[in-house]
Amino acid sequence: AFGASVAYGVQKLISHTSQKPVVEPLIPPRSKTSNLTSNILATPSRNIKTELKRTRKSCMIFYGSQTGTAEKLASIFAKEALFRFGVEGLVADLDNFDYDDLLSLSEENVLVFLLATYGEGDPTDNSISFDRYCANLRSKTDLQAHNLHYASFGLGNSSYQFYNEMIKRVDSTLSGAGAHRIGSAGLGDDADGSLEDDFLTWKDETLPQLANHLGFTEQERAPIVNLVISETKSSSSIPLFLGEPNAAHRKGKLRGPWTNSNPLPARISESREVFQNSPRKCLHVAFDISDSTMTYETGDHLGVSPENSNREVERFLRIFGLFEKKDSIFNIGSEDPTVKLPLPAYTTYDAATRYYLDICAPISRYILGSLVSYCSDEVTKAELLRLSKDNVAFEKEVKNLCLNLAQFLEGFGSSTLWNSVPISLLFEMIGKLQPRYYSISSSSLQSRKCISITAVVETQKNDEWSHEFKGVATNYLLAQHFQIRGPNALEPTHLLSGPRFRNTAMSSLIHVRRSKFRLPKMNSVPIIMIGPGTGIAPFRAFVQERAWQNSAHPAGRTILFYGCRRRNEDFLYEEEWRQLETSFKPGTFSMHVAFSRQDPTKKVYVQHLLNQQAEELRELILRQNACVYVCGDAQRMAKDVFTAMAQIIGEDNAFDGDSQAYLKTLKKNKRWLEDVW
Ligand code: FAD
Repeated sequence: AFGASVAYGVQKLISHTSQKPVVEPLIPPRSKTSNLTSNILATPSRNIKTELKRTRKSCMIFYGSQTGTAEKLASIFAKEALFRFGVEGLVADLDNFDYDDLLSLSEENVLVFLLATYGEGDPTDNSISFDRYCANLRSKTDLQAHNLHYASFGLGNSSYQFYNEMIKRVDSTLSGAGAHRIGSAGLGDDADGSLEDDFLTWKDETLPQLANHLGFTEQERAPIVNLVISETKSSSSIPLFLGEPNAAHRKGKLRGPWTNSNPLPARISESREVFQNSPRKCLHVAFDISDSTMTYETGDHLGVSPENSNREVERFLRIFGLFEKKDSIFNIGSEDPTVKLPLPAYTTYDAATRYYLDICAPISRYILGSLVSYCSDEVTKAELLRLSKDNVAFEKEVKNLCLNLAQFLEGFGSSTLWNSVPISLLFEMIGKLQPRYYSISSSSLQSRKCISITAVVETQKNDEWSHEFKGVATNYLLAQHFQIRGPNALEPTHLLSGPRFRNTAMSSLIHVRRSKFRLPKMNSVPIIMIGPGTGIAPFRAFVQERAWQNSAHPAGRTILFYGCRRRNEDFLYEEEWRQLETSFKPGTFSMHVAFSRQDPTKKVYVQHLLNQQAEELRELILRQNACVYVCGDAQRMAKDVFTAMAQIIGEDNAFDGDSQAYLKTLKKNKRWLEDVW
């Protein structure tokens, strides 16, 4: 797997507050030509102090990342610390360290924590051990970490109950141990799409304080681009990556375990549209895993690694003057051995943009700002500068248009204007193309060798736009659907043959991500499922599984609340529910469906249906220990359902207390589980 990039400058003008400005670098310069690793101890250490010394950095920027965003922000922080202040920072995966020396670091070092919160206040996979370490610290009362200086920023979503819980835990643990926080505790909120702006604001406020603490002042420096790209001729000795996720894939030697960095190419055994008469599309896609060691459990998520469409790859290559040499082979490297490369070496421009980089991602103000230096047209330059500085204008004139970088630049200046932007800069700033996750809609008991998902194809059109926004992964799945189902003239098309034309049968790269969204161990425990839209996906699996076990272990009460627009339009799996019902003892399974647009005078949502069934819900939750499951929209639905249910519980004659607190306890005790996004 290939990590996100950070570029570090090599030789720069550094000034120190306690001294006169010096042209000499504080840290001995590295030779541009020598192999840099020879300057420092070769083996990375799991000890923070040793690693800072080994890499000659004064600041360690830890990221706790699930989807790559925190890692990307850590890179931005490191890069700006260096080119604005000359502070050398090391971007570090929390999982690569033991933290034994964390509290005894000297004042000359600063730790920065950029940590995402995942699910119900959980740490990301790579920060689980650090979370445990902090929990252990909290149990001690005699900590003296007065020399430790740190800065903290959390990546969270206020739609979730445990908003930014991870960074709050870390912050209170460290300050409780006597450590000093530099700047404010930054909280980024993804719910209103302002996470990046929250980060930029926090960074602009924190960086000068951090640099000041380390004795550095700001200097005007050109942005540093330190990834080195060198083109080369094809030869049999070159390990050429044409889209393969790792070396084993390139060599055709596939072996589990199947993970994000080592996904399984799985044949699509079924692809069908599951909306009936709707302008929107929803796909039921099944992947055959019978020839592999891949396993899953009901309630897990499936990661699908997409590729970018032909149209967007071409647009990107053309706008940056790379189209004519799209098949040229290049090597990518860095002067700094601590830098993780964003791409495998060697690869081609076509493969880089098609398979490895998120070229369709939302544009960031940071990227626009970085392009300013390379814009030769003064009018365009001024415009770019304005948009990169003015948050409100950026929101209105860039972000809300749902354009990717190349689409935006197409309408901005002459056609050859952007040819001079160093491609290494772009590759450094554009994030990795990430898998998209889907709640698995098949039961692992009933369908062990086949995993299905239910995905709405992401397409948005706005009267004010001249284009149609198309989501990356779902349109990739749609292209495969049409390839399987018959010729298709629909844009965007994809190169479905895959790297080296190995994808002869339609297949996708997939991996399973374990979740905590699990049925109760005993089939007899009553369950209440609430899942409008594609939130129904895991409940198809749950109901299949309860029905499957029914003869040996009779199912308890099984109630499903579902919501869609209209019966004849987007009622998912309508026929299947009828068949599944016949597998249950009469009266055990029931389904309540809310149609939000069937009756033009009355919108009905799942929470309204909950009210209609209030009496039974109270009985099941309060007196029969039922488990409640909520799946789908995190922004509004999950909150509305929680509020509606709290009211229902509060109205029970025998219930005395705070019904919201009661439901929160259910969450803690894993009797209320959410799978929301
Ligand atoms: P993307 O390209 O990722 O776009 C998604 C959104 O990002 C857009 O709608 C837009 O708001 C924003 N965006 C992207 N690019 C830009 C841009 N250039 N400018 C501005 N905004 C932009 N979905 C399902 O349909 N079914 C499921 O069962 C399901 N389960 C999920 C389970 C989990 C745990 C999670 C985290 C998500 C789940 N999702 C599910 C959502 C799914 O992962 C994807 O987000 C969804 O399919 C869209 O993917 P995409 O690549 O097609 O769209």
